[in-house]
Amino acid sequence: MGAAREREGAVESGRRLVLVLGGTSDARAVAELLDGAEGVRVLSSLAGRTKAPVRPVGESRVGGFGGVEGLTAWLRENRAAAVVDATHPFAARISANAVAACAAVGVPLLRLQRPGWTARDGDDWRRVASAHEAAAVLPGIGRRVFLTTGRLETAPYARLDDLWFLLRSVEAPDGDVPRNLELLLDRGPFAFDDEVGLLRRHRIDVLVTKDSGGTQTAAKLDAARELGVPVVMISRPAVAAPESVASAAEAAEWVRGTCGTVRG
Ligand code: NAP
Repeated sequence: MGAAREREGAVESGRRLVLVLGGTSDARAVAELLDGAEGVRVLSSLAGRTKAPVRPVGESRVGGFGGVEGLTAWLRENRAAAVVDATHPFAARISANAVAACAAVGVPLLRLQRPGWTARDGDDWRRVASAHEAAAVLPGIGRRVFLTTGRLETAPYARLDDLWFLLRSVEAPDGDVPRNLELLLDRGPFAFDDEVGLLRRHRIDVLVTKDSGGTQTAAKLDAARELGVPVVMISRPAVAAPESVASAAEAAEWVRGTCGTVRG
């Protein structure tokens, strides 16, 4: 198959295949916006990390592709016309794989990444580059930690025996965890009043979060500001994307434009 033909993408029943790399509410919004769009077939891809993921509208697949090679082969075999990488800002590996695989096959790639959070008046944030750095600064800041960085990254905090942790995650962690830990299984969005109540009830004196951005989980930052609780903010990893937008609406527009004749 020649490169030019590959770029045209698969036209199955007049529809061109768009792969949406997902696992985020933004990715679900893209799938919803393009649902039923003329000339486009959206296939959402989930990593399969959570046992009961929120399923996007339309077709979806679950599981890794097998690195850059696997994704490259997948794009070729399925003759994808475009890829929208709407994965979480901290899912750096799949994003890098998408850049390499799309370049190899000549498939247009768009990165959809919501803006990060910015500190406001009254905020007390310490920016760090990683979970390891967050763990290193924590003992100098507080004793009762609200940890909201997900179940997969608890190991860096596991040796902080003098601190107490409230870990909130969608599913229980399976790696090393701190000795003094209370687990709160919950999934956003979260409301301001509930977040204030939670911080008060547990006498939280420091919050650890990734700079995920967006509105779904931002209320904890408002609550921390309200109560004067310092925040350890883990900065995003750098991802070199050829083209990027900040909203699902812009991403859907890009798909329509990229897939040529497609009308929404
Ligand atoms: P990652 O470190 O960048 O990816 C690790 C591996 O998981 C990738 O190499 C890929 O496997 C597979 N993978 C990741 N996303 C995939 C997708 N959408 N479809 C198919 N395979 C995928 O990512 P992660 O941090 O483990 O995140 C996994 C998923 O959870 C992402 O889809 C992300 O949007 C979502 N998520 C992540 C976070 C977070 O904080 N990291 C938060 C909320 C949601 P192969 O190399 O085998 O293709």
